[in-house]
Amino acid sequence: MPLELALERLLGMAAATPLLERESLPLADAQGRILAETLVCRLDMPPWPNSAMDGYALRLGDWAGEPLAVTQRIFAGQAPQPLAAGTCARIFTGAPLPAGADCVEMQENVEVLDDQRVLFKQPLRVGQNIRPQGQEARVGESILASGTRLGPIELGLAASLGAPRVEVCRRIRVAVLSTGDELVEPGQPLGPGQIYNSNRQLLCSWLERLGCEVIDAGILPDDLAQTRMRLAQLAAVDLILSTGGVSVGEADFLGIALREEGELTFWKLAIKPGKPLTVGHFRGVPVIGLPGNPASTLVTFALLARPYLLRRQGVLEVAPLALQVPAGFTWAKPGNRREYLRGRIEQGRAVIYPNQSSGVLRSAAWANGLVEVLEGQTLAAGDMLRFIPFSELLG
Ligand code: AMP
Ligand code: MG
Repeated sequence: MPLELALERLLGMAAATPLLERESLPLADAQGRILAETLVCRLDMPPWPNSAMDGYALRLGDWAGEPLAVTQRIFAGQAPQPLAAGTCARIFTGAPLPAGADCVEMQENVEVLDDQRVLFKQPLRVGQNIRPQGQEARVGESILASGTRLGPIELGLAASLGAPRVEVCRRIRVAVLSTGDELVEPGQPLGPGQIYNSNRQLLCSWLERLGCEVIDAGILPDDLAQTRMRLAQLAAVDLILSTGGVSVGEADFLGIALREEGELTFWKLAIKPGKPLTVGHFRGVPVIGLPGNPASTLVTFALLARPYLLRRQGVLEVAPLALQVPAGFTWAKPGNRREYLRGRIEQGRAVIYPNQSSGVLRSAAWANGLVEVLEGQTLAAGDMLRFIPFSELLG
């Protein structure tokens, strides 16, 4: 299954089961959450014309080049008097323009004469150094759309609109299940044939960064009865995200349990790493089973599970930004699956970690993004390729 098609299907499923519950949060608590209302401008922004400079405000039509008397001082936060005809006002950045003024000259271009009069030394024009009313937005204009992820910029903008709280989608509850008899948690001694569970930490940390409520469902042994039992305990979550146990044909207990009490689709993704992906539900709870090799878990979570999770919360823009960069390596052997290599940008070129085995998570820690090599593609140094920075995927 091509990646695009898998993504399209997953996003379709996500859109069909949106999270509908909302909560109202103070801005300070809304970081990383997803807006569930449209934020509308309630006043013109700025609400009145104001000065963009520290300087002097005047009415150009009144002025024939002579020095002008300074008849008021207007600081930010003050309400000015109308400008007396044939005079000017001392004004500071952000202060409202007095009625009648139509020009602000910066103080550097003005000579202050002894007797509280000032001389304008440069040619002036109407509107200069004035921020007009409504320059940023007009009353009634939609400023932030429902489905926007709230970061520092969006929250700052919401504050500028005067909104003390925002309606956000409730946190999506995601259970993380690590399958495998060989898995042991860090801190425990390793027995023969055992390895430490890395996917659990990888996914729990990642989900937290995505603003999810994480239910750590621990390690699930490769056993059908326990698989059924554990899945049944997770009835209250929005998604069960498992890793491992989806190798074709083998003791695929997750697959059996889903087939018995839900629905199972098994996709062979045309990507490397990350071929097998389980998609289905157990008693109505959506399940995504990622492949167990840590680099495969990483790639499939980044490219498929992440956008799915965002879309279920109403996010429209789920595609990561990617860069076009020249290859700093060669790729001689064309593959029949699209590859996502762990790579980094060095001196403007994408280079890849020497060991791209799907079991090697170290490759991803060295890297700062995924290098895309298309099916059938070969690369010479300097050929352009797509690079998806981890910074686009991790949050
Ligand atoms: P599986 O899909 O269960 O056959 O697992 C594929 C490979 O990934 C095997 O080498 C597993 O030992 C490894 N693996 C599976 N789950 C994890 C995990 N949570 N942490 C580290 N390695 C894992
Ligand atoms: Mg396994």
